[in-house]
Amino acid sequence: MNTSLFENTKRPLLIAGPCSAETEQQLVETAARLHRTGKVDMIRAGIWKPRTRPGSFEGIGAKGLPWLQRVKEETGLPVCTEVAKASHVEMCLEFGIDVLWIGARTTVNPFAVQEIAEALKGVDIPVMIKNPINPDLHLWIGGVERLVNAGLTQIAAIHRGFSFTGEKIFRNRPHWQLAIDFRQELPQIPMINDPSHICGRRDLLLEVAQKAMDLNFHGLMIESHITPDEAWSDAQQQITPEVYGDMISALVVRHEMPDDPMKLSQLEQMRKQIDLIDDELIHILASRMKLSRDIGKYKRENDITILQQNRWKEILEKYLEKGRMSGLSDDFVSRFIKAIHDESITQQEDVMKG
Ligand code: PEP
Ligand code: MN
Repeated sequence: MNTSLFENTKRPLLIAGPCSAETEQQLVETAARLHRTGKVDMIRAGIWKPRTRPGSFEGIGAKGLPWLQRVKEETGLPVCTEVAKASHVEMCLEFGIDVLWIGARTTVNPFAVQEIAEALKGVDIPVMIKNPINPDLHLWIGGVERLVNAGLTQIAAIHRGFSFTGEKIFRNRPHWQLAIDFRQELPQIPMINDPSHICGRRDLLLEVAQKAMDLNFHGLMIESHITPDEAWSDAQQQITPEVYGDMISALVVRHEMPDDPMKLSQLEQMRKQIDLIDDELIHILASRMKLSRDIGKYKRENDITILQQNRWKEILEKYLEKGRMSGLSDDFVSRFIKAIHDESITQQEDVMKG
């Protein structure tokens, strides 16, 4: 495959399918109904399932690979599954699986990622790497580097949240900043959000998917099952293909830059105005601090303290009131005035020291 599945597709790239392939009928029907929504670009299904404790359903195994092949034939959509070791990679390649992903419990282990990378040498198949279960940016980036070093060129990241203890709303805490930091370091790697494993429940999926779109993520991976309540794994977070279709329709997909050149020049105009105002702000702040230093000199010559508590209280109250009249929040105005005041004191202290 020469053209990258990740670069050349529309945004968002939509990946959906059951957490696990359970039976041939369940997988084929889920895929067909997802395909019918018209809102899916790739079908997912776990064949080998890394479970936290033994005894849970650990995946149907290699027997499910021909089912994925059938899904691919019947829907014409590419299919993906999770690999955790070299033997999984070999079997997937044998059965023509289009895209592989490395799960969160595998990304934590550099030996395992290295083994997968080596099994992929010379095969430029698209690979998606989930974040490790612990919030360690470098472990995630390191996983990508191992794949790059093996010669892979079609790599995407999946943000599926991070384990934590304590009071839970989410199954895995999103730590959005970590995904943003990842993109800052590796801007060429598309970032796909996995609301299902972040939320662990159905009612929050749309909110998380929307947030990912608002943060300009490249795609979404969402678990869907024909009878979610009866799913053999991750039942609480799965939704029917039809609910999935409605959810994707409800998403508002905004773009980082407008496609229309007219709209772009409007945006540029407004940004220029903002830059001018910001320039002015810097000049005004510089003049403000020059005055503070002059006052510092005066205070030094006349032995007056830098801080006069009453004056500070008056200033803050006056500006909070003015801010309210101009639609600025108390929180913003007080942080802004305090920052100016702090800097003013620092500058006056410097003057005092001579
Ligand atoms: C999965 O995608 O079903 C899965 C096991 O995910 P994760 O590796 O994010 O836990
Ligand atoms: Mn799952």
